[in-house]
Amino acid sequence: MIYLDHAAATPVLKEALEAMMPYFSDVFFNPSAAYLPAKKVASDYEAAKATIAHAIGAKASDLVITAGATEANNLAFTAIQANAESVLYLATEHDSVRRIAEQCGGTEVKVLSNGIIDLSDLKSKINDQIELISISLVNNELGVLQPLAEVANLIRETKIDRMKRGVKTQLLLHSDASQALNLLDISVSRLGVDLLTLNAAKVYGPKGVGALYVSHDVRLKPLTYGGGQENGLRSGTENVPGVIGFAAAVKHAKEHVNGNRKKYAGWKKILLQELKDYELINKKHTLDNFIVLCYNGLDAERLIFLLEDRGVYVSTGAACATSKGVRSHVLKAIGLSDSEIAGSLRISLGRTNTEEQIHDAARIINEVVQSEKERVKRNG
Ligand code: PLP
Repeated sequence: MIYLDHAAATPVLKEALEAMMPYFSDVFFNPSAAYLPAKKVASDYEAAKATIAHAIGAKASDLVITAGATEANNLAFTAIQANAESVLYLATEHDSVRRIAEQCGGTEVKVLSNGIIDLSDLKSKINDQIELISISLVNNELGVLQPLAEVANLIRETKIDRMKRGVKTQLLLHSDASQALNLLDISVSRLGVDLLTLNAAKVYGPKGVGALYVSHDVRLKPLTYGGGQENGLRSGTENVPGVIGFAAAVKHAKEHVNGNRKKYAGWKKILLQELKDYELINKKHTLDNFIVLCYNGLDAERLIFLLEDRGVYVSTGAACATSKGVRSHVLKAIGLSDSEIAGSLRISLGRTNTEEQIHDAARIINEVVQSEKERVKRNG
C-alpha cells in the first residue's frame, strides 16, 4: 500500500502509542481524584499540556484540550459577544469553521486564484461590528500557507483606529493550524493570533484529541457544562492517554520539522518530474507535502478507485466532503471550473512514505491516467 493521504489521517507514532499505553490500564486514575496516584496522573497530564503549549510558544494554562479540531474551532467562536454579522472567515476554511461561522451570520473573505487570502477584500469587509476573523494557517485541501502576520498587522491598525474613535468592539484573530504542525515552526506571538486550533490526528497523534490556544485576555463561553475541567470551558473527565499521545507526537514533530521539510520537498520534485499530463493547482506558498494535480477531462473519483486497486491511496479533497459526494468549495473558491474540480486529485505525503514509493506512485498514477484517457477517448 502506498498511502498518499496524510492530510486526512496520520497513523499514531510508535513513541506516542507507547507513551499512551500505561494511562489506559496501570495508571487509569481520574486526574480530579484526591489520592496520590491520581495526583500523579494529573501532573503528567499538565506536563503533557505544557509540552504541546511550548511547541507553539505558549503555556499549559493557555490551552483548552478538546475532542479534536472541530470542537476547538467551535469553541473559538464562543468569543463572539454580539453574534450577528460579527465574523469574517476565509472562503476556503474547513467545514468545522464554515458551519459555525455561518451560524454566527459570518461573511466570507475571498481568496486569490493561488488560494492566498485577498487582503483587499478582507480590508473592505472589516467594519466596526467585526469581532472575530478566522483564517487557517494551512489550508487542508491545497496546503496553502496564509500570510497571518500580515492579517495580524491589519488587525493591529484597525484596533488603533477603533480606539481613537472610541469604538469598544473587540477584534480577535483565530487560526486553524490543524495541518501546520508537521512542517512549520509555530509561534503564537509571531503569528499574532488570539486563538489557535491544533489537531493531534494530523501530527501522528490519536484521533479525537485537539486543543485551542486562548490568549489570556480572550473570554470564551463553555463548550460543555459539568465538572469544570479545562478552566470550565470544556467539562468532562480528561482524555489522559490522548493528551499524553498528543504531546509525544508534537514533541517528535517539533524535532523533525526541518528534516521533514527537506524530505518532502525532494519527493515533491520527483513526483512533479515523473508524473505526466497534469496541471499543478497549488503552485506557490504551499507546504511541500501537499500536491494538487488536475487531470482535466478525467473523473478524479474514478481515478481514486482505480488507484486503490493498484494499492495507491489518494483523495479528491477533504475526506468529509468526499464521503458526501460534495464538490470542493476550496477548488471552487480559487476559480476552477466544474470540469477542473472533477479532475483534481490531492496527494499528501507523510511519514509512511519512502522515496521508492514515490517513484512507484508516479509510475502507477501515470499508467492509470493513461488508460483512463484511452477509455474516455474510445467512449467519446
Ligand atoms: N480543520 C482542518 C484544517 C482539518 O483538516 C480537519 C480535519 O480534517 C479539521 C479541522 C477537523 O478535525 P477533527 O475531525 O479532528 O475534529
